[in-house]
Amino acid sequence: MSTDFAATRALFSLPEGVIYLDGNSLGPLPRAAAERVRACVEDEWGGMLITAWNQAGWIDLPRRLGDRIGRLIGAEPGAVVLGDTLSIKVYQALASALELRPERRVILSDTGNFPSDLYMADGLVRTLGDSYELRTVAPEAVEDAITPDIAVLMLTEVDYRTGRKHDMRRLIAKAHDAGALVVWDLAHSAGAIEVDVAGTDADFAVGCTYKYLNSGPGGPAFIYIAPRLAPQVRPALSGWLGHEAPFAFDLDYRPSAGIDRMRVGTPPVLQMAALEASMDIWDRVEMADVRARSIELSQAFIDGVEAACPTLKLASPRDAEARGSQVSFRHPEGYAIMQALIARGVIGDFRAPDILRFGFTPLYTTMEDVRAAVVALNGILERADWDREEYKTRAKVT
Ligand SMILES: *Cc1c(COP(=O)(O)O)cnc(C)c1O
Repeated sequence: MSTDFAATRALFSLPEGVIYLDGNSLGPLPRAAAERVRACVEDEWGGMLITAWNQAGWIDLPRRLGDRIGRLIGAEPGAVVLGDTLSIKVYQALASALELRPERRVILSDTGNFPSDLYMADGLVRTLGDSYELRTVAPEAVEDAITPDIAVLMLTEVDYRTGRKHDMRRLIAKAHDAGALVVWDLAHSAGAIEVDVAGTDADFAVGCTYKYLNSGPGGPAFIYIAPRLAPQVRPALSGWLGHEAPFAFDLDYRPSAGIDRMRVGTPPVLQMAALEASMDIWDRVEMADVRARSIELSQAFIDGVEAACPTLKLASPRDAEARGSQVSFRHPEGYAIMQALIARGVIGDFRAPDILRFGFTPLYTTMEDVRAAVVALNGILERADWDREEYKTRAKVT
């Protein structure tokens, strides 16, 4: 293994006494991020003012950082760009993909998809009118539902609740055989598992940077288009920074060559500064090592919880190959149990109706963390510590 995980852990600022098993939802703070953001605020914004777009290279950050993320998902250089939020990138990719199959009208997705992806697809269908359809089937039924009327298959590779992983290569091949395009949401894949968008012949892919990639709350999303397709893509959100020559200020829109056409407006520079600090860590990491360690950590957690906490039922696939980098358990009192656990310094999260979710992020999570989390969970269940009003009152964010 070439990745030194003790070294990467030292590069994150984690609060004393906290075991953080929620980096799948919001990555922790890279130690260098505070100084990088300070320099961006004071030296670049404060000192250079508007000249920083050129002098500090702000204008190219969405592509420069896009390439660094691209390495982690197996993208060709120059095929990934940052901007906007994931929901918007889902919409943009989906609308663009649909236009490439004008004779077809159906978007196929699954009921395990993240609601925002389905809401965005539904909204797009309503905008396009009655002849379009969003069809959702159970995750296990997706493969058989790929019929010749499907224009676009839109899937999230790793299920946000259970961690169940789709077989990207197989589904892409099936979709392409049926003449459909595929939009992948890699929200729970980028930085979590090995992804090979180029090698699997993916068409479009999108994902966020504030989960496993640690850009901080509200960090921009990324979008990938296969270079073979990009020149044919009409960007659905045709903003000025996706124009071939934004500073010509032409009245007519001409898309930029390649992935730059998926840019929309002014990118979030401060947030990208934080992401740069995180990518300095990711540049030292091999995804094969991350995956191997993630499986070790996840397996140890499953074994530990199943031995110590028999009332928790595994909601994730048992086979590591069929799972992303998270492990979920079901319990009718899952919310209260998670609150009690967080009160003891072990942070995971809860997803309705009954899922306790734990993310495994080898960059800063150790086997000792896993063992201590199992001990804490066992203690809470044995003593029914969760059975208190304060743990049962739902907060706005769960
Ligand atoms: C986290 C997540 C989102 C969130 O989208 P934002 O626009 O960044 O809030 C969307 N889709 C999936 C699959 C996610 O996991």
